Amino acid sequence: VSTTGKPDISREKSAELYEKAKLYFPGGVNSPVRAFKSVYGTPLFIQKGDGSQIWDADGNQFVDYCCSWGPLILGHNNAKVREKVIEVMQNGMSFGAPTALENELAELILKHNKYIEKIRFVSSGTEAVMSAIRLARGYTKRNKILKFEGCYHGHVDALLVKAGSGLVTFGETSSAGIPKAFADETIVVSLNDKEALLKAFEDFKDQIAAVIIEPVPANNGLLLQHKEFLQYLRNVCTQNGTLLIFDEVISGFRVGFEGAAGYYQIKPDIITYGKIIGGGMPVGAYGSSAEVMSNISPEGPVYQAGTLSGNPVAMAAGIAQLTELLRLGFYRDLNNKTEEFTEAVQRFATARNYKFKVFTIGSIFWFAFTDKDIRKAEDIDPASMEKFKKLHRELINRGVYLGPSGYEVGFISAAHTKIDLEKTKRAIFDSLDVVF
Ligand code: PLP
Repeated sequence: VSTTGKPDISREKSAELYEKAKLYFPGGVNSPVRAFKSVYGTPLFIQKGDGSQIWDADGNQFVDYCCSWGPLILGHNNAKVREKVIEVMQNGMSFGAPTALENELAELILKHNKYIEKIRFVSSGTEAVMSAIRLARGYTKRNKILKFEGCYHGHVDALLVKAGSGLVTFGETSSAGIPKAFADETIVVSLNDKEALLKAFEDFKDQIAAVIIEPVPANNGLLLQHKEFLQYLRNVCTQNGTLLIFDEVISGFRVGFEGAAGYYQIKPDIITYGKIIGGGMPVGAYGSSAEVMSNISPEGPVYQAGTLSGNPVAMAAGIAQLTELLRLGFYRDLNNKTEEFTEAVQRFATARNYKFKVFTIGSIFWFAFTDKDIRKAEDIDPASMEKFKKLHRELINRGVYLGPSGYEVGFISAAHTKIDLEKTKRAIFDSLDVVF
């Protein structure tokens, strides 16, 4: 029985599977945060998903706000995505040769995105970022890159420095196994800090190839930046001959079809995508102007390739999902629904005088145990994560699944119904009463 509220759900089958998984995988998982290290109990092994719901191996049912960490903006097992994937699979899984499906997905994106002219598909967000960095270095013939503390850009060497996400969940900010010489090429500054940015540009004059930022930093809490800071960053990059990379692996197709670039109306030089773009399949992408992209092999000298890049089945999932997003009112409805939900949770917490804040943009939300306006990683109190741990346990016991770390954000999908959100609000209210 939980020490704090309702009895704990049964995790018997999940625990059995986890014991087995530990024999095969380091920490029993293929991606660290999945191991539930900073929340209560054994990780839940998921058996199936449908719409807003997931079921674990023990038959427990949850309203899911992790949504595979972002890709599932239409919810689980969307019929249109599934049917398109099955249709394309009938013709084989992979050819390592061009297919019409790549053209179709690219056209869908480029026709409705004024911030890039050409795109290259890869198989993950990490690959997209890694390639974008190489492109910026090749194009500018400079070595250094500048990133912001708490922004996560995948597990590429140069960017695993003060990188938030799984690292901070485990109490670290940077990874082992990165040669100092590599890390020395990465300059890290605080978010929302113009002076630190200017100083870095003075210290490393004419050396910075690219500045990379999550324009909606969503891997170390949700650290919403002022548009003015992003615009300032744009200007500083232009003045210094540095390329600005928006890492839109989370925000792309999430805060709007044109992502954060469209949301803030700021044109970066290169944009990286992942997650939503693949409809739940492994797809990443990077795009830029035709001129910058002409540096990519085989047109130019910057090499980048992939056996499964532009995989037809993955392209099919992306096409089906993005087609739905282009329907009139899609984002308006999704964002309104999220706003109503987050406002209700905030109203409840405020009325109870709980030190609890909901940060939100589009259909992303983050629950923080604070009364501060948090805009940089350093402003998060690690001790507050103890409260998140309790909240997570209480919510699991009430049929609500959040990603298993207080540093991670939640996502609302088009499949979440009014009833789901009502049920979730009730569960959150009851859980907060237990936590505080
Ligand atoms: N960039 C951002 C902003 C991300 O959130 C992530 C993953 O969470 C990545 C890059 C890496 O993407 P992937 O996990 O697909 O390699």
